[in-house]
Amino acid sequence: MLPQHKDKLLLTLIDDLREARERLGANSQNSSRPPRTDSPWSSTPDQEHQAKTPPKSSTEIDKNEPIDDKQEGVNPTAQPSDSTAQPSESTVKRKVGHQLHAPGHGRELTLPISAIQTHAPCHCAICGEALDAQHFLAHSGHYVLDIDITPNLGLAGIRVTHEKHLYGEIACTCGHINSTEPGSCPDDPSWKKLPMNERGIVGPTLASLIVCMAQRMRLSRRQTQEFLRDWLDVPLSTSTINRCIHEAGRAVEPLEEQLVEEIREASLLHADETPWKEWGQLLWLWVIISPTVCLFLIGYRSQELLDNLFGDQIKGWLMSDGYKVYRKYQNRLRCWAHVIRKAKGLTEAYDEEAINFGKQVNQWLEKLMQAIYQARESPPGTPMTVTYAAELEAFKQLCEQHRESKHKKTRELAGEFLNDWEAFWVVLAYPFLPFTNNEAERALRHWVIARLISQGTRTEQGTSTARRKFLG
Ligand SMILES: [Zn+2]
Repeated sequence: MLPQHKDKLLLTLIDDLREARERLGANSQNSSRPPRTDSPWSSTPDQEHQAKTPPKSSTEIDKNEPIDDKQEGVNPTAQPSDSTAQPSESTVKRKVGHQLHAPGHGRELTLPISAIQTHAPCHCAICGEALDAQHFLAHSGHYVLDIDITPNLGLAGIRVTHEKHLYGEIACTCGHINSTEPGSCPDDPSWKKLPMNERGIVGPTLASLIVCMAQRMRLSRRQTQEFLRDWLDVPLSTSTINRCIHEAGRAVEPLEEQLVEEIREASLLHADETPWKEWGQLLWLWVIISPTVCLFLIGYRSQELLDNLFGDQIKGWLMSDGYKVYRKYQNRLRCWAHVIRKAKGLTEAYDEEAINFGKQVNQWLEKLMQAIYQARESPPGTPMTVTYAAELEAFKQLCEQHRESKHKKTRELAGEFLNDWEAFWVVLAYPFLPFTNNEAERALRHWVIARLISQGTRTEQGTSTARRKFLG
């Protein structure tokens, strides 16, 4: 080859390499890629600023800024009423939600009242005498919008109800004034921004529909509002819709203790984790699945979270990926799907050693998988741990050989096997145990879609509510 041809070839190679590197480093900030393709842990300086300066009053956020409606309360095209007196939007970041001095919106009561519920005391609290409802004197009241989904006149459908609830007092002949008030939940320090009582405009069945639309159907607060307005003629503000969802989060909280107990007692658990952002701060969503319970937790990616859940040990088997916090537990199972994917990646590398190692890993795992499937159908006379003992040892040697490989991903995969050696092969002794973590990964998929739509949560209360959306 002539020297000038070599130069040309070299220049082409350099160009190719440069382009490949550029492609690798592309993100939403330096290319046309959408922001959702960015790593969840990457954040812009603006987001970091937000993370460091959480909203001063999360009541404002909670009421006006639903988790999955980032435009809520903010009109990006809105101009200040007096543009000369106000700093421009490019220099001052508008706070989310209701703006100072912006006109408020009241609900216009146009729906007819379908029924009046009088909450009168029945018996005197002092002498126990029956009270005459004729003497009831109302002192407060509120309206409740709800839906009735019981078949009406043999027809299925939804009927909107708009009831007036009256509270008041009846004087007893003994002189005691007996009065009634809407019921309320005792104060709970962890929900101090969400006091709950019966005064709310939304009735329980309508609240269930809202929770279903927002959580199960993943509709934003605005879309939920639009549906209720257009299809049911129910006018609700997005902050009311948001409050219903948060109240539901609080209402199901007591269930969690019971579910955690079931998780602790389960014979087989799957665990996985994925990033989650709360007001720009990187947190992790954990999922722990037993045959009957699917528990989501949001917190830091640390040992502490698992310690709080399990204590020092887990009773049953725990299937997980190779994240080191799981290593503390005995009775661990390792997911083969992860290593199979990585081995496949190696077979597509530009490195001879990596290709060979990748192939050997996949052949070995494929062989064992066939043996496990067979063992599940007809248990073998000789345990698989004995049958494959020599080959397992040879595979261990292979991993040892590649532990110091010059190819990064090869040595990482070899190290992954060696780090969790026992956990990988438990399934040979107990072939009915799973060898993939698909259960947990499937549960997280739903969440990943929700994260894509909502871009995370904004407040602690929002996070607390959001993670209960799939509780059960
Ligand atoms: Zn009395």
